Amino acid sequence: MDIAIGKHVDGWCTRCKLVLRHTIESMTGAKIKRTHCNTCGAQHAHRAGPPRARDEQKIYASKYAALLRGRTESASRPYSRSVRFMVGEVISHTTLGLGIVTAERERTKIDILFPDGQKVLLQGC
Ligand SMILES: [Zn+2]
Repeated sequence: MDIAIGKHVDGWCTRCKLVLRHTIESMTGAKIKRTHCNTCGAQHAHRAGPPRARDEQKIYASKYAALLRGRTESASRPYSRSVRFMVGEVISHTTLGLGIVTAERERTKIDILFPDGQKVLLQGC
């Protein structure tokens, strides 16, 4: 493959979360430095492939922290499957910890981000 500024290269898009075609924007010697995604246009450092699991965990942790920013347990409602919750609401779960409702799947299921990962819990049953 031809590697030069303006040429195309397959790389990991940090926004699309897929390996996609990118256009090379800058290089250091023979190394690709910055690219932009031909699909979404996002500019970022070049990555040849998907991030490792540890990076995924870091990305998740910062997403969780950003959603929870400035909100504490005192602003949360205790989780109970008989209660209905709203997207964006902070809930406290006895074993999983503090969670943020990110989506409603069906009337009786909600997606919640917890410190250890995303979970689907029942609501309003
Ligand atoms: Zn993209």
